[in-house]
Amino acid sequence: MRDYKLTLLSNQQVSTRYWHMILDSSDIQESIEPGQFFNIQSTDHHSYYPLLRRPLSIFLINDDTLEFLYKVEGAGTTQLTKYAPGKNMQLLGPAGVPFTIDRDCNRILLLARGVGIATLAALAQKAFQKGIEIHSILSARKRDDLLATKTLEKYCKEIYCVTEEDKSSDVENVREIIHHLTKTYNFDAMYTCGSKRLSLLLQELSIESGISGQVALEEYMACGMGVCYSCVCDVKREGMIHTVKSCEDGPVFPLSEVVFR
Ligand SMILES: Cc1cc2nc3c(=O)[nH]c(=O)nc-3n(C[C@H](O)[C@H](O)[C@H](O)COP(=O)(O)OP(=O)(O)OC[C@H]3O[C@@H](n4cnc5c(N)ncnc54)[C@H](O)[C@@H]3O)c2cc1C
Repeated sequence: MRDYKLTLLSNQQVSTRYWHMILDSSDIQESIEPGQFFNIQSTDHHSYYPLLRRPLSIFLINDDTLEFLYKVEGAGTTQLTKYAPGKNMQLLGPAGVPFTIDRDCNRILLLARGVGIATLAALAQKAFQKGIEIHSILSARKRDDLLATKTLEKYCKEIYCVTEEDKSSDVENVREIIHHLTKTYNFDAMYTCGSKRLSLLLQELSIESGISGQVALEEYMACGMGVCYSCVCDVKREGMIHTVKSCEDGPVFPLSEVVFR
């Protein structure tokens, strides 16, 4: 992990609320893994506001470029939309614990909601490169927010899209889809990101089915390097609750360990 200065190559609005950013990463020698994130400076030219960097997980990892997909939420992400190609951006990373894929893994299930789709896209990209069969369920408020679907189609054998707009995204419907998939296929692992409700569902189904799972958390972060304790969450290990930092001990955790609140 280092504080890199990377050149922005492209920064485009891809839907009402989402933007896609590509940076030149040819200066990064260390390996970058799906589930890891960069803490990105998003100040304007004239001030230190907003002071705290904004964490974004890696959307796609290429030979000489890094891609991020971000939703415009508040001051930081609004400022990011103002950056034009050519800008030198300051990014601290790659940070955090990545997803892991077992050596003998053949088939996985991905369950992503909203911006969590960006985080799981990098995992799909890596799993595809390893020849793993991928089945995905993507959930969002609107169809317009399912913009990474096209990218995931390249990697996945099948994708189910559910939205509030279609009234198909409620937990019970997603449960039925997962039940159908787990009856039809033997999954070696399940991964999720982007929704506490769906993570809880997958945690329950992971215990029920005995299929191991991992979750990438998106707790609010300030320093993103293990100093400030603003991103703590609870995990249960050997019957004991431990409070851990999601920036350093996560953001990826075994699904069975996380205590969702
Ligand atoms: C590991 C990780 C990966 C993520 N990946 C993505 C991604 O790929 N795409 C995406 O769109 N979003 C992602 N997010 C969410 C993204 O970081 C937030 O949407 C973004 O920080 C919002 O910033 P803002 O200034 O636009 O919004 P605002 O709502 O103005 O600010 C939110 C920010 O304020 C700060 N903050 C707020 N409350 C607290 C608090 N209690 N303690 C400390 N700091 C606080 C934090 O810096 C927080 O990031 C990720 C978050 C995490 C933790």
